Amino acid sequence: MKKIFVNEVGPRDGLQNIDIILNVDERFQLIQSLEKAGINSLEVGSFVSPKAVPAMDNTDTLLEKLVNSKSDYSVLIPNTYGYKQAKDNKVKEVCLVLCATESMNKENINKSIDETILEFKEIIDMAKKDKIRTKIYISVAFECPYEGIVSSEYVYDLTKEFLSYGINEVVIADTIGAGKPDQVKKLFRRLVKDFGSSDFSAHFHDTRLLALSNVKAAMGEGITKFDSCIAGLGGCPFAPGASGNLATEDLVSMLHKEGYETGINEEMLRNSAKLAAQLTN
Ligand code: MG
Repeated sequence: MKKIFVNEVGPRDGLQNIDIILNVDERFQLIQSLEKAGINSLEVGSFVSPKAVPAMDNTDTLLEKLVNSKSDYSVLIPNTYGYKQAKDNKVKEVCLVLCATESMNKENINKSIDETILEFKEIIDMAKKDKIRTKIYISVAFECPYEGIVSSEYVYDLTKEFLSYGINEVVIADTIGAGKPDQVKKLFRRLVKDFGSSDFSAHFHDTRLLALSNVKAAMGEGITKFDSCIAGLGGCPFAPGASGNLATEDLVSMLHKEGYETGINEEMLRNSAKLAAQLTN
């Protein structure tokens, strides 16, 4: 049976994009519940300014509580300072986010794309020496709320550039859920043809109910790693209309029905979804 890897982003992407703020114990409880369901790859927090993203404050304390777990944890960082915090907290994988349009990148981290690439290259170099895994999200990879349709040629070029820097994984992210299966297919077909499929994953949103169709389109091109978010929490605070991360329970259910293996128990996953709903009202 073919295996598909599910990377759970609820504890970061989900929780930072809702109104309610969970405390560290509640965040820990949610992560433990997800692990019990069989999820062993999770984005658990970020080292960003707590003023900008209060929900992710105390990610260091959360990581201390997770120190004995065998799961793979990643943490989002926006810059070199965040990288240092991640390193000090013994994080094994850091996530970088680059938006594929100037307007969205400015909105997200207040920098131009060129400035961001320069800083990220430095981070990748440091991470290689420190033996920390790096992953980059190419955000708004299909459509941007400010600039419209994004050129797949440009997303291809950005991906190629980061692979040449030695990034470990590139996540093609449809941040506002506007990507269509034929666009997904076209982009991944080209990327996989030139670079193989193992360094890629995809992050889809269900805003227009196309997330699962987009997953299938990517799987058709050989992609085997996908992000999802328990109970479909969150969207993106800076992207108008970006509600609805693909729900982990929907993704897992579809994969099992189609005969794929995930290592995740659906019934226990439903308990995690209930817990997520309870904790976040
Ligand atoms: Mg998302």
